[in-house]
Amino acid sequence: MAYKITSQCISCNLCESVCPTGAIKVEGTRHWIDSELCTNCVGSIHTVPQCKAGCPTCDGCVKETNDYWESWFAKYNRVIGKLTKKQDYWERWFDCYSQKFSEQMQKHQGEILGV
Ligand code: SF4
Ligand code: SF4
Repeated sequence: MAYKITSQCISCNLCESVCPTGAIKVEGTRHWIDSELCTNCVGSIHTVPQCKAGCPTCDGCVKETNDYWESWFAKYNRVIGKLTKKQDYWERWFDCYSQKFSEQMQKHQGEILGV
């Protein structure tokens, strides 16, 4: 799970210069972390996440606390997007599945009601 920058950030830029993977992005004064690039500093020479360690605020930079399924779907979407080269593959699959499911339900209800 990647780190993220919160509204407590005071835009001091410290984290940008210490991140070993270039995951910290700056748009104007807004800082954010690209979760695709953030490795939690694992595999680098650092033993602790540098953005959190160097941040002068209490909670300007914190670990993401996505729930399990949110995180699972985000990862699944990234993998499917890379494999199929379609960023909306999952949404399209879900829409199609929902439609088929709805049709089956209506048909089943029709059979029960004798319509
Ligand atoms: S945890 Fe490490 S890799 Fe991730 S954004 Fe912070 S400094 Fe960069
Ligand atoms: S080190 Fe903390 S306060 Fe400074 S830019 Fe990064 S998140 Fe914001």
